[in-house]
Amino acid sequence: MPLTREQLLERAYQTKSSLRSCTLCERRCGVDRLAGQPAPCGLGAETHCFKRHLSYAEELDLIPSYMVYFAGCNFRCAFCVQAPTCFDPIRGERVDPEALAAECGRQVDQGATTINLLGGEPSLHLHTILELAAAAPRPLPLILNSNFYMTPEVLDLLDGAVGIYLADFKFGNDTCADRIAGVDRYVEVVTRNLLHAARQRAGGARLMVRHLLMPGHLECCFKPVAAWMAEHLPDVPFNVMEGYVPAWRAAEGRRNPELTRTLDAGDRAAAREVLVRLQVSARKEICA
Ligand code: SF4
Ligand code: SF4
Repeated sequence: MPLTREQLLERAYQTKSSLRSCTLCERRCGVDRLAGQPAPCGLGAETHCFKRHLSYAEELDLIPSYMVYFAGCNFRCAFCVQAPTCFDPIRGERVDPEALAAECGRQVDQGATTINLLGGEPSLHLHTILELAAAAPRPLPLILNSNFYMTPEVLDLLDGAVGIYLADFKFGNDTCADRIAGVDRYVEVVTRNLLHAARQRAGGARLMVRHLLMPGHLECCFKPVAAWMAEHLPDVPFNVMEGYVPAWRAAEGRRNPELTRTLDAGDRAAAREVLVRLQVSARKEICA
């Protein structure tokens, strides 16, 4: 059941208060974001939006999708195509939830089938997302397009507020996650959250999972991710993306020399073989 405006505002208020000692993501740093204390994600209490546009480069059942990019991220993926812009927490205009809800409503009226909240990392702006949902005169078809490194409480507060979780499952082990994105306990946190989201039935949210194939990471990342999906979430749509480009620090190749190239035909064929062997019906679409 979608939440009422009052329930959404209550959750937004509760979330905003919690920023006094923030644990929205599994860094659980306890920083006072309301007082502007320096946080690993760089965020305070405000949300800024650095880009918005209509996209046709998402999964077929999500397009046309209106993309809303919130500034700030708790990861530092070496290949991030939005970096370094997305790391600046005050890049772009400050979000006014009422105005953004009206704009998203107009996009839906003009044909957008989904509103795709991404970044940076949108779950770090939970309070703004809840305010956005509350400000909409009729429910917006919101997607949380996320690295899925939030705490479980965030998923509980989102239940009933967003329609789709579009979750990245990027790394198949903690060593690669730490070396490439600077995060720890990655596999434990993301798999826990995927199972948590899959169990959320009350709010009617759908779960979709994406994995970006990375050169040199078939064995260590793609295989374990695909095997985990086959074993634990066989009915959840799993999209294997082949559009890797060596953006940002990946191009320099200092810490991750294997990431300086694009995928070749051999990488793609090997990935397909894995999927066939695991009997995973992954979709391969061109997604950014
Ligand atoms: S979102 Fe994460 S990194 Fe940012 S202040 Fe909260 S716990 Fe810390
Ligand atoms: S999680 Fe997404 S936005 Fe954040 S650094 Fe990684 S690729 Fe970039």
